[in-house]
Amino acid sequence: MSQVSRPKPRVALLTCLISGMLSLAANSIPSLTVRAHTVPRNDSLSSQPLSTSAQFDDPYSDFRNARYSNAGLLNERDEVKLGTQLHREVTKKFNLTDAGLDRVERIGQGCAKTSLRPGLLYKFHVIQSREINGFSLPGGHIYVTTALLRLANENELASVLAHEVGHIVARHSLKTLKASQEYDDIAKQLGELTGVAGDVARDLGVALGQMIGAGFLTVHSRDEEREADFLGVRTMPRAGFDPQGMITMFQKLQRVEEQDSNLLGTLFSDHPDAGERIENTRYEIARMKRNR
Ligand SMILES: [Zn+2]
Repeated sequence: MSQVSRPKPRVALLTCLISGMLSLAANSIPSLTVRAHTVPRNDSLSSQPLSTSAQFDDPYSDFRNARYSNAGLLNERDEVKLGTQLHREVTKKFNLTDAGLDRVERIGQGCAKTSLRPGLLYKFHVIQSREINGFSLPGGHIYVTTALLRLANENELASVLAHEVGHIVARHSLKTLKASQEYDDIAKQLGELTGVAGDVARDLGVALGQMIGAGFLTVHSRDEEREADFLGVRTMPRAGFDPQGMITMFQKLQRVEEQDSNLLGTLFSDHPDAGERIENTRYEIARMKRNR
């Protein structure tokens, strides 16, 4: 069973954290799986059934010694340009609001500063929506919905934001872009781009608008979700938040799903399920306490 095939582009406001946690389809898969010997970004992973002893294995062993940089990807200057262009496309598709923005900014910047990529300028945004959702884009743009803000307390919101910062630290969307057919064209156009007007910006806008619409850069593999969870939960205490908030966030979302799964937007099956993510988070919290 292929667990981590690259998700197909989907047309919807896409959740990386939430729908991943709450996928009904994933919950219905009879056996949980854990990853065997893999390297980050290897999307053709072997998997094996979860045995009773497997829960004591380190679920994040592949990520512990990872070093992150833009090497081999878009350089950071072009990444920021890409983020600016993508954000313009997001503003065309979604209603952004100032409601709750101060809170998101305060908690989000705290997580960003204590992340493994503190030098980037992060920009937090709130989308007016009754869908509970959150996602991030290259260049430091992070989005959460008003419905998520209503649901989450401080520590829980921090868990979502720290997870999204984790995707940016690990350059997940940049890696997705790099592997795409459009990469060479987009990289060339970004290199030529000097402002937001003109033919280059217009052509790029069309291509990037299609990418946003298809969710191409906001959908992540199971492996990338695990890595963002790992980076997020480790950031939380450094930023002054209780990492238990990640567990209670998962649990709240599980309850919402039981009551009205429509509130969670598009669900998809190729992500770690909530049970696995809760177990992994518990593992990491215990490990952080031991090593304190
Ligand atoms: Zn995610």
